[in-house]
Amino acid sequence: MQKLEALARDAQQLASGLDAANGGPANASAHRTIRVLPLTENETEVARQMQICNACRYCEGFCAVFPAMTRRLEFGKADVNYLANLCHNCGACYHACQYAPPHEFAVNVPQAMAKVRMDTYSEYAVPSFMGALYKRNGLTLSLALAFGLALFLVLGVAMNGPLFGTPLAGNFYAIFPHNLLALLFGIVFVLASVSLGVGVTRFWKDVSADTGSAAAQGEAISEATRNALTLKYLDGGHGDGCNEADDRFTLARRRFHHFTFYGFMLCFAATVVATFYHFFLDLHAPYPFVSVPVLLGTLGGIGLLIGPAGLLWLNLKRDPARGDAAQKPMDRGFIALLLLTSATGLALLAWRDTAALAWLLAVHLGVVLALFATLPYGKFAHGIYRSAALLKSSIEKRQANSLKLGSE
Ligand code: SF4
Ligand code: SF4
Repeated sequence: MQKLEALARDAQQLASGLDAANGGPANASAHRTIRVLPLTENETEVARQMQICNACRYCEGFCAVFPAMTRRLEFGKADVNYLANLCHNCGACYHACQYAPPHEFAVNVPQAMAKVRMDTYSEYAVPSFMGALYKRNGLTLSLALAFGLALFLVLGVAMNGPLFGTPLAGNFYAIFPHNLLALLFGIVFVLASVSLGVGVTRFWKDVSADTGSAAAQGEAISEATRNALTLKYLDGGHGDGCNEADDRFTLARRRFHHFTFYGFMLCFAATVVATFYHFFLDLHAPYPFVSVPVLLGTLGGIGLLIGPAGLLWLNLKRDPARGDAAQKPMDRGFIALLLLTSATGLALLAWRDTAALAWLLAVHLGVVLALFATLPYGKFAHGIYRSAALLKSSIEKRQANSLKLGSE
């Protein structure tokens, strides 16, 4: 351990020496990117492990984290937050590491990164108290909010008529007027978008000082978008996938993420098309089973059943040693809301022509509202911060490495 620490010290001195030797304005600007802020305990642990990894570099080809690490010899708060959000907890470096516990170096990069990542969600969240609340009680908060909102809407329906009245042939707007729904969901959607937007802007300002030329930015944006949409790094860097319960590789996580992401996007597309129909074509719901909004929503709902169910199964069987136990309730809270959203949505579609329409609709709307309200504070935020980190990585790759020591 002492040898590695000495190596890290030498590396830092070397970095200072290089800067002094080069000494130009470019290096001065590189120094301005380092924010001298005290590290938290979790960030200090990531910085410690990154210094060991920087001396070892065995895992360089596994993911984007290690090439980004080799561009640094010291790890400030911004670097640690950036690297933590670039990591997607595939576990490859833990299962490959000769310094993992019980070795005295106790290197467990996925776990250390997961702890910092979770701190990121609450640190950058707006309002921050919601982030802190969700961080501590994600599953309870998600279920309680979904149950409370569903109950509120069910009671609202019951006060205005029978819960099991005459079948309304799927006419939702006879129960909740269109404008009321548009206003309610519009407000929650805008609040969630603003909260996420402010959070990721603050994150971006912290981690990214130099974004390079416009041409390089264009290339970087296109590469990062491709990497995010294909979940490139969930192939483990070798195409065989991530580790889950043990040393074996599997592409299951990548596939379930794809079902979840594209399921969510199809449901979103169904809502956009239905809104277009309503306002621009004067075509009002309920739409036939064979219509664009219903087909998109049905396919999306099925994707949102398969994906989250698979992710929950993987979450339950994943090797606990490499994860952050404190993060499980938050992960499961988000997965539970996705599952409930798709299950109640498909049930509503299946029984929309029956007397159960009113309470099925109230329950589904309550769950969707809870999902939207918690989007900025949990696992959904991971997708946004990770995309920002991938963009930073793509930009950084196109810039000269001032250390001239890396292996990219
Ligand atoms: S995780 Fe372990 S094996 Fe991989 S680079 Fe770090 S110290 Fe080396
Ligand atoms: S857990 Fe996977 S993504 Fe994270 S640093 Fe290790 S190899 Fe990279």
